[in-house]
Amino acid sequence: MSEDRGEHRFETLAVHAGQEPDPTTGAIVTPIYQTSTFAQSGVGKHQGYEYSRSGNPTRTALEASLAALEGAGYGSAFSSGLAAEDATLRLLAPGDHVLVGNDVYGGTYRLLSQVHARAGLSFSPVALESSAAVLAAWQPTTRMVWAETPSNPLLRIADIKALAEVAHARQALLVVDNTFATPYLQQPLALGADIVVHSTTKYLGGHSDVVGGFVATSSAELAGRIAFLQNAAGAVPGPFDCFLVLRGLKTLAVRMDRQCDNASRVVEALAAHPAVSHVYYPGLPDHGGHAAARTQMRRFGAMVSFTVRGGESQALAVAESTSLFTLAESLGAVESLIEHPHRMTHASVADSSLAVDPALLRISVGLEHAEDLIADLRSALDVAVAS
Ligand code: PLP
Repeated sequence: MSEDRGEHRFETLAVHAGQEPDPTTGAIVTPIYQTSTFAQSGVGKHQGYEYSRSGNPTRTALEASLAALEGAGYGSAFSSGLAAEDATLRLLAPGDHVLVGNDVYGGTYRLLSQVHARAGLSFSPVALESSAAVLAAWQPTTRMVWAETPSNPLLRIADIKALAEVAHARQALLVVDNTFATPYLQQPLALGADIVVHSTTKYLGGHSDVVGGFVATSSAELAGRIAFLQNAAGAVPGPFDCFLVLRGLKTLAVRMDRQCDNASRVVEALAAHPAVSHVYYPGLPDHGGHAAARTQMRRFGAMVSFTVRGGESQALAVAESTSLFTLAESLGAVESLIEHPHRMTHASVADSSLAVDPALLRISVGLEHAEDLIADLRSALDVAVAS
């Protein structure tokens, strides 16, 4: 993948794009404009901002910065990843059909099955890594393909370029949830996707202290409709939340590099442990999506899943025995986390065809020392072997 993004490279854009010193005071850091409204010198005479649902300077800085990192012409920030997804799905009309990956965040499936299905959308979960499966599931009303890649929790890889070709030949939009990869590792718009969505709660914020979402696109028409929905439905992030995500973006590249280093060390240790029956990580040559990941990702990310021999009871014992890996939902921050998808993040798909293996654990590898992380996992897995 190319290092160049316009005039400057990724790390430079992350520190500078959208973040000129404050024009009124010279403050180096974009201020938190904690205000709901803005004075007008006459009716309709203002300095670009009227009311903070419609626009706020701290949000503008975040939108410019993250759009630049995605190589997008436009970006809209939301109050959560799911709010960003909801706005994106509202681009469709009743009767439209969505093809969605058959391994996605449980909340995405819940949004489709329990909210948008009631509003008239239909959808089919499909193995997006198989073009034959995609074509077999295609319907005359299919208007959107929704790809989470790498996927949550099995780290499946969809070939973005190939999917974009299939979708565009049939007048459908390709949406990529880029939460697990981040724009540092993968740039879906450059590969042909129409829209990128994010949970900025994860790697972009990076410190487990904010919930947010984002939609990026280079289509002026789609961007206009998303911005309209952002204001009309109002799921906007507050200025302080925008500030936190902006601060996270500045260190994204260095965090991702170190977290990827740590993840590959952890993967080696897991694969060698007798209590582990399978490791899911796109960096492994035997991973089904390894070839596609090599082509479209800079590195393989810091999310890892694995199954534990002995089934659910042993998996739960491991999840409850680690000390550095905190048992918690979410991912992508400086501290390492472990969770049991079947009962936690993917409980909402437990009764569906997307149900997750109860023996599966998912870890988010953080910035602690790799040796300490490996020792922590080994001692928890030793408990599983012994019991
Ligand atoms: N997309 C992915 C891949 C996720 O993992 C999540 C949350 O875990 C979301 C979207 C939803 O984001 P949020 O929790 O910020 O609403």
